[in-house]
Amino acid sequence: FDDGPNPLTTPDILAILEKEQVPATFFVVGSRIPGNEVLLQRMAHDGDEIGNHSWNHPDFTKLTPVQIKQQIDQTQAVVLAAGVPAPTLFRPPYGAVNDMVRSNVDLTFALWNEDPKDWAANRPTQVIAASETAAQPGGVVDLHDIYHLTSHALTPIIDNLKGRSFHFVTMSQLMAGQPVPPHGEFFGR
Ligand code: ZN
Repeated sequence: FDDGPNPLTTPDILAILEKEQVPATFFVVGSRIPGNEVLLQRMAHDGDEIGNHSWNHPDFTKLTPVQIKQQIDQTQAVVLAAGVPAPTLFRPPYGAVNDMVRSNVDLTFALWNEDPKDWAANRPTQVIAASETAAQPGGVVDLHDIYHLTSHALTPIIDNLKGRSFHFVTMSQLMAGQPVPPHGEFFGR
C-alpha cells in the first residue's frame, strides 16, 4: 500500500488486514507521518512492514542528488521517530528510476508487478476484478491506502485469493532468499 498514512482511510485498511490476519507493506510518504505516528505503530504491531516512499512524492528522476538524499533521509527520520523500525525498502514515486536515482539511494528498490489501478477506478468492482485476474505466485500488488474505494475492494480481494490458496507476506518476506544487489530493483518473484 502506497501514499499514506491517511487518518481517513488507513485505519479502515488496517482493520481489514487485522481481521483477515494478512500482513502488508506500507510505503509511507514522510510528510504525512507527523501527527499520524499511531498508524505506523499499529502497522508495526500488526507485523506489517513499513517502506520509504519519499518525503513528498516527487519524481526522483527530476531531482538533484542532494534533494534525493533529503527525501530519503527525512522520511527515515520521521519513521524512526515514530518508534518503528527504519525502512530497508524504497518505492520510488511513479516507479520513476534511472541510474542517477539508483546511485543516490542506499535502500533496495521495491517495485511491483501487479497494478489493479485503484487510483483510476470509479468502482471497487473494477479493482476487485483487476486484482483477481492479475494474481500470480510471487506477485507484488500495488494498492493505495488513501482511497475509500480501495478499502471497499480489499475484503473481497483477500477472500478470493485465500480461496485460491494464495499466502500473504510482506515484501521483505517475499524477497527472502532472493538477494537483490545493492541499488537493485525487485518487482516480484
Ligand atoms: Zn505513490
